[in-house]
Amino acid sequence: MRYVEKYRDEANELLRDSDLFEIPINIEDLAKKLNIEVRYKDLNKLSGVIKYTPSSDKVIITINSNDFELRQRFTLAHEIAHYIHDINFEKEKKIEDTISSQTHFRKEPLSPIERRADKFASDLLMPNELFKKEVKSIVKKLFPDRENFNFEVREIYKIVKDTSKLFGVSKPAVIYKFKSLKITDEKLTKELFNYHYEN
Ligand SMILES: [Zn+2]
Repeated sequence: MRYVEKYRDEANELLRDSDLFEIPINIEDLAKKLNIEVRYKDLNKLSGVIKYTPSSDKVIITINSNDFELRQRFTLAHEIAHYIHDINFEKEKKIEDTISSQTHFRKEPLSPIERRADKFASDLLMPNELFKKEVKSIVKKLFPDRENFNFEVREIYKIVKDTSKLFGVSKPAVIYKFKSLKITDEKLTKELFNYHYEN
């Protein structure tokens, strides 16, 4: 068993033990500390690839350099999630992620492995406890007089925008996080996505 296995579903612990528990999370540094080589190149339709080679005991993550920066960050976190969960370190393993397997509107439902990697990536870049705290203070700053979480879509979108900037993640990634933390419900999530794609 590799030491990394203990961090399965423990994104926060992984960050804390790596001295990286502050936002924006330095995901490049995390890869470095895990001894993962990260390369950037044109991957055409792929967003990222992780490859483990037993003979050299080497893990290489390749990120599509044509994607926009926040997407690249999320992809790196996603591939690190594969590293923690999906490599058994006995045989060669290669996982290729297409653009559509990333956090945004998807045509097909994700496999459990991909869903787990997305969730872990989201927890790495937006650790729940830091996330809730920062969202609270963003809300206070934007809407100092508001007593409850009764906002219009465009107002929530402002919160999404500031949160996205602070954590270095895309707005859709924040919208998904709001949903997974039950800050917003299904209906509001849909409205936020519509608002996002219309503006
Ligand atoms: Zn994946």
